[in-house]
Amino acid sequence: MTQKQSIEQVNQKTLCHPVAYIGIGLHCGRKVSMVVRPAKANAGISFLRKDLPVDEGLIAARWYNVVDTEMSTAIGNEYGHTIDTVEHIMAALRGCGVDNALVEVDGPEVPIMDGSAEPFVAMIERVGLQEQSAPRNAIWIQRPIEVRDGDKYAILTPADTPRISVEIDFDNSVVGSQTLSVELVDEAFCRQVARARTFGFVNQVAALKQRGLIKGGSLHNAILVDGDRIVNESGLRYRDEFVRHKVLDCLGDLALAGVPILGHYHACKPGHELNSRLMHTLFEMRESWSYITMSAFNALKGQNERCDKQSRQNMNETPRMQASR
Ligand SMILES: [Zn+2]
Repeated sequence: MTQKQSIEQVNQKTLCHPVAYIGIGLHCGRKVSMVVRPAKANAGISFLRKDLPVDEGLIAARWYNVVDTEMSTAIGNEYGHTIDTVEHIMAALRGCGVDNALVEVDGPEVPIMDGSAEPFVAMIERVGLQEQSAPRNAIWIQRPIEVRDGDKYAILTPADTPRISVEIDFDNSVVGSQTLSVELVDEAFCRQVARARTFGFVNQVAALKQRGLIKGGSLHNAILVDGDRIVNESGLRYRDEFVRHKVLDCLGDLALAGVPILGHYHACKPGHELNSRLMHTLFEMRESWSYITMSAFNALKGQNERCDKQSRQNMNETPRMQASR
């Protein structure tokens, strides 16, 4: 087990050892092997397609490389090569506090595993993380940044601790309307969100398969909803597993910013497309945020907390002093 991971960690981290996974690509339906390797400080997260010529397979896991957001998030490089369904491994890496890693995959898609981020998290926790000497940078939100699409929206606002709040509303009695707000500190992601699986509806399966999507989809890697019942015999892992999975997806998409975001992400009916637009807007609105090292942010936060404590004490003392007169 790795030690407690915190977003407030001041230095960058990478894995102590490589970890390997074998699974099926949700959309391509092919067996895929993936190895997540430690990487140097300031390298960030990159994917490397091992099935392509050596110098053409590298794809940086960054918002500006997003090439497709239908059903999942795909990123690509200047050679036209892509890697699909990056959001769950990205969420696992960010949620566990991994800043630098090279994700090698021998196919066009990250394996879906059980449809959640739990298998990724379990292996990362098993090998543990090592602290690197470079400071961890973050994006510090100072003014609201928002994108809207009809009744859907995603907003980043200033906050002392990073938080993700998501609201979903499906016209289906099993999923219905669910909300969840998670403060991304310590092990919150690993304990509250990582096990939530992706989901789909029976009445959409045929159309998606016809379009060449979800070829690898099964009850082993998704919750399947048929009208008012869950098809999976084992049922749900959480009563509100659907919104928990949305939080997971959103964290994975936000991880494409390249560094943690110090702010409150709040979204209604979010999707990969909306999150991609939010990333573009974020990097267009450079006056609304700044880069800050975690040590500088922690020092500022400590100062604010001391000021708050002092002002609370002063407020408490005033009436006492008046009463004693
Ligand atoms: Zn997902």
